[in-house]
Parts: sequence; structure tokens; C-alpha cells
Amino acid sequence: PTESLVAMLERSVAEAGDHPALEFFGRRTSYAELGDQVDRAAEGLRQLGVRAGDRVALILPNCPQHVVAFYAVLRLGGVVVEHNPLYTSRELRHQFEDHQARIVIAWDKSVASVRAFPEDVEIDHIVSVNLLAAFPAIKRLALHLPVKKLRESRDALSGSAPGTISWKDVLSHGAIDPEHPRPAVDDLAALQYTSGTTGQPKGAMLTHFNLYSNALQGEAWMHGAEYRKEIFYAILPMFHAFGMTLYLTYGIRKQALLVLFPKFDPNLILDAMKKSPATVYCAVPPIYERTAVVAKERGISLRSCKYCISGAMNLPDHVVELWESVSGGLLVEGYGMTESSPVALGNPFHPTRRPGTVGVPFPSTQMKVVDLDDPTTLVALGEPGELLLKGPQVFQGYWNNPEETAKTLLPGGWLRTGDIVTVDADGFTTIVDRAKELVISGGFNVSPSEVEAVLRLHADVVDAAVFGKTLERGGEMVVAAVELKPGAALDEEALRFHCRDQLAAYKIPRRIVKVEEMPRSMLGKILRKQVREQVLPLL
Ligand code: ATP
Ligand code: MG
Repeated sequence: PTESLVAMLERSVAEAGDHPALEFFGRRTSYAELGDQVDRAAEGLRQLGVRAGDRVALILPNCPQHVVAFYAVLRLGGVVVEHNPLYTSRELRHQFEDHQARIVIAWDKSVASVRAFPEDVEIDHIVSVNLLAAFPAIKRLALHLPVKKLRESRDALSGSAPGTISWKDVLSHGAIDPEHPRPAVDDLAALQYTSGTTGQPKGAMLTHFNLYSNALQGEAWMHGAEYRKEIFYAILPMFHAFGMTLYLTYGIRKQALLVLFPKFDPNLILDAMKKSPATVYCAVPPIYERTAVVAKERGISLRSCKYCISGAMNLPDHVVELWESVSGGLLVEGYGMTESSPVALGNPFHPTRRPGTVGVPFPSTQMKVVDLDDPTTLVALGEPGELLLKGPQVFQGYWNNPEETAKTLLPGGWLRTGDIVTVDADGFTTIVDRAKELVISGGFNVSPSEVEAVLRLHADVVDAAVFGKTLERGGEMVVAAVELKPGAALDEEALRFHCRDQLAAYKIPRRIVKVEEMPRSMLGKILRKQVREQVLPLL
């Protein structure tokens, strides 16, 4: 790309005009209206003091205001900092201490959490987006919040803080001067936090060039998708890198209609299919499974879904079979990480795609597989090693964190993914595990995902997380946490017996513990580190 995301949006607005851009609980916004709202929001934010280079925090579920706020911040040359709208005050504060944004655009549920920040986190303005009153259905959806989180935000209501300004007010000052400077292609566009699976989330610095590149690479991947014809179901959260690129940049570039869902609810999604049948339905494995099951029960067709991509975690074969039996296209797996804007590899939308693999590198993307201890040494084809990536979508480093940046961005622009992969003779890549999560048992490496897959085959097991416990005499012992089917009792011996059939002795969990519910990221990824912290004190 030679232009910024702002120029990209402005072209879509000019070309698509009355074509619908957004749909939310049945209400539509056209491209012309979207452009108008972005210009007004930019003027309102300018009057609140936002200048080029400033970071502006967004704490929003998927909703029309999220799209407008994203582009309004970019229009001013600002840097968007996205947050999980279900985070508690404590979790948000950690990120605010890092990025120090002083202007926050938050949905009504998160305003109290921001107000509860201690005084040393300085906030100038909170812009409140009122969703709960306007869309009562969100209240029902938000009730899925764990009780602990509800309690925390209720306590926070007593905190002292700056006054809030309503989103409506921000939009009431007219449009920004068309001459107001626009960002350049190499300017920072987003400070995008990683999911925090292996540690504290880190802020990845992504430029307009990085994000726009990934939109163009996605366009090449989904070849055949037509301008102004596609309907994207925005189910994945836009605060995460995949949702951001898929909907906010690639979808807007395609001048598509984005149907926005604040949370995954199969019935809400299937109801929307009648008016606006999805053509792009990207999700994670549990969402595909649930959507297909409920669609079958309700007799609703999913044949319009042509482009279906799964990522973030391993995609099981049975989900591919189930989804492809009801949808109108192939379900292919891709791979990426926040640091690569995020997508770097994908399977082709073609019968040559290979289930169980994450496909081949994106256009303009190079990869190599190196020794786990020495990233300058390549491993032989077919051997496991760490995946390194290079391409226009690779980030600029972590905000405020030169040590992590130096460990992750190698000379020559190579990104260390921390993921262990193998590549077959045709160049298809398989994700084995994360290097950080390998367990060293009896001098051998144990891959947690292999042991988890075996445990999941047992009839009583819903899900499993495997990790290591450090032993005093050195090395680690393999530990498994399992979530069981309702009514099933934990029988460690029986589970070990089940493993013995399929795993070498050193891989078999020495301890198996039951957990009520696996902690998961918003995308449904099991947070092994959190399970480990929860379970280790019990051993
Ligand atoms: P953190 O970096 O904070 O520990 P994270 O790595 O989970 O968190 P993300 O950037 O959201 O944060 O996730 C990227 C990671 O997700 C990849 O490094 C990889 O481990 C995993 N991943 C992505 N796609 C796939 C896939 N198709 N199959 C298996 N794992 C995947
Ligand atoms: Mg990571």
C-alpha cells in the first residue's frame, strides 16, 4: 500500500455511497453515513484535544460506534488502543499504565471500571457510548459475565473521576475541516495488545502500512470476493487483531456490509441470516460447531457462507466435516499473531487445501523454520523448529518494551513467533505447540497439545490443559487439568490407563486434576498459564 487506512476509508465512502456499510440489531448505516459520522467524531475528538500521535483508548464491543471511533482516531493521525470490553478495572489499569492514553471511548458498562482507576492513571476525558439502553438485547448478552466481574464494576461506581461526555455530544460539532492533515502510510495506527496467553499482554506497534498490507494479503487469499457484494458477519471481537483486520480494514476496503454482533449468540446470528445472509463467516472452532448445530435444529440454511476461515487454535477434523456439510464453501485454517497484523499463513480456498495444517505463507511473506535454541540454524525439512516470519505485515516492536522487542524482532526484520511448526514436502505448515509451553519430562520434550488431544478422546473429558510442574531435583512433571462432562467423576487411574495406549510413558500426566471451567480468552483459546496458576497450589 502507498496510502493510509484513512485514504482507504475515504475511497470506499466515495465509491459505495448509499450501499450499506453496517448493520446492528437490524439497523443499517450506509457508507455515506459512516463517512459523515467519522468526520464528525474526528472533529469532536479534536475539540477534546486529540492530536496526531496521541493514543486513544477504545473499550467497546462490536457496534457501529466502534467502527466510527476507530477511523475518527486515525483521521486525526491518532493511535487506536483497543481493549477487551469484558476486562475488569484491574486488567484495564495494567494496560493503561503501559500506554498512558488520556482519552477513552468506552461503552456504558466499562465507564465505571475506568473511573475506578487510582489517581496516578491520568485520564482527561471519558466518552461514553450508551449501548445498554438503546439495545436491551446487549444487557442479556452481557449477563454472561462472571459474577465476580459484575461485582467489581458495581463497586467501582463509587470511584471519583473526570466527568463523562456522551458520544452523541462528540458528534454534535459538525464535520472536521477537510484540509485537516491526514496520517502518512508509515505512521503508527494501532497499539494492539497480545492475548496474554503466555504472560502479561504486550502492546504491538502496528502502522497503517502493516494493517493495510494484511488487508491486501487477505484480499488475495479470498480471491473471487466482490466489491459491494459481500456480507461479513462480524462475530469475532474487533478489539482483537483478527477481527480488526478482517472487518475494520479488509471488510471496509471491499465495501462490504458488516453485520455486527457484540457477542456470540447462535440464535441472534441465525435470525440475522434471513435479512442479510452471510457470505464471509470467519470464526473459531467452537463457534463453527455451535452455529452448525443450532442451524440444523432450527432448519436455517448456511449455504450463503462461502468464505470461512478458522484460526487462533487448532481446528479439529470433525468441525470441518460438520461445517462443510451445512455451509456453501470450504472451511480453511489460517495462522497468525498480533505481531503480524495478524495473518501470515493460510490454506487456499481450493480443494488442495490441507485440513490439519495452517497452509502456506501469504503473498510477500517469507518464512523459515529454525533450531529452538539457535535461530540462525535452519532445521531439515519435516523436522520441528521455531517459525520465523518476514513480511510487510510484521510489526514495529513492543510499546515501551525494548527487551522483548530485541528478543522478538531479529536483525533483517525476522519475527520470532515462539511457535513450533513442521513443514511437509509441499510446503504446508503444521503448528505443533508454543515453544514456551513445552514440558521437559525425563529429559524429553512433551508437547502439551498432543497429550490434551489424547485426553479429549476419553468419553468423560470435555477439555484438557497440560503443563509442567517444576521438580526440586530438576526437570518437570507433566500435569493435566481436565473439565469433565456433567455428572462424570474424576478417575485419575482410568484416565492414565486411557493415555497409556497412545502415549509414551514420559508423556503421561503424573497428576490429573479436575477444574470446573477452563479459563479461556475471548476467542475461546484455553489460557494454559492461568490454568497452571489455578491448579499448581492444589498439588
Ligand atoms: P501472548 O503473546 O500475550 O502470550 P497470544 O500469543 O495468545 O498471547 P495472539 O497474538 O492473540 O496472542 O495469538 C497468537 C498465537 O495464537 C500464535 O502465536 C499461536 O500460538 C496461536 N495460533 C494462531 N493461529 C493458530 C492456529 N491456526 N493453530 C494453532 N495455534 C494458533
Ligand atoms: Mg504471542
